[in-house]
Amino acid sequence: RKLVGKLSTGCEEFNEMMGGGIESQSITEMYGEFGCGKTQVAHQLAVNVQLPPEQGGLGGSVVIIDTENTFRPERITQMVKGLSEKHGVEYDPEEFLKNIHVARAYNSNHQILLVDSASELANELKDSDMPVRLLIVDSLTAHFRAEYIGRGTLADRQQKLNKHLHDIQRFGDLFNSCVVVTNQVMSKPDAFFGDPTKPIGGHILGHTATFRLYIRKSKGDKRIVKLIDSPNLPDGEAIMSITTDGLSD
Ligand code: ATP
Ligand code: MG
Repeated sequence: RKLVGKLSTGCEEFNEMMGGGIESQSITEMYGEFGCGKTQVAHQLAVNVQLPPEQGGLGGSVVIIDTENTFRPERITQMVKGLSEKHGVEYDPEEFLKNIHVARAYNSNHQILLVDSASELANELKDSDMPVRLLIVDSLTAHFRAEYIGRGTLADRQQKLNKHLHDIQRFGDLFNSCVVVTNQVMSKPDAFFGDPTKPIGGHILGHTATFRLYIRKSKGDKRIVKLIDSPNLPDGEAIMSITTDGLSD
């Protein structure tokens, strides 16, 4: 087992709650309602992972499996500018964008296949100066949810989702990579998926995701991030801000 890496979120409270940052070789699940900031955190991590360890990064590149077409290069540019100001260094946003490998997933089968493509790429980059150290699946569950409404059984869906999670966990282990997935919580009751206060994918994710983060809106640009049922860390809450410059305390 390789030494576990810790990836900074850019928010001190958040990092402390996580015992230093987002861990490699583990799946971290962010769940919460639409607009709570899951995709924003994903963008920030895609920037931060490229920094050297002294600056909270893992000196690596990132693969994003984008299922909802919500990746925005312009947002990366904003965040890199924010980082330049914070560090007093003139970073080039284009250099950061080069190390963000985005793959659009058109359905759940495609999404599952893209993990193989991500592995191939990670193998190619393994000995380069920018090995893949972060895999993001945003959203993990949207396709599964949409495709199984009104057809298929819950068991089929969970089996498929389970295999997918197994694949991404293996990716994390093989490449000493962080794995961050998002999962939207419905604001309204949902007949098919049951309790709306629980994330879609319920029990399966509950057992697989090593770190589960519940994000909710607070005043203005503030968000509350809650760590739930971690195997080795106390439950906790952190407040972060989502600003033009990116995530901050
Ligand atoms: P969904 O479940 O719909 O995918 P989400 O949890 O991914 O939602 P995000 O898209 O990450 O939500 O968050 C959107 C919010 O992030 C906006 O409502 C806004 O508050 C904030 N945000 C987005 N872009 C910026 C920006 N450029 N500057 C400041 N805040 C921003
Ligand atoms: Mg999103």
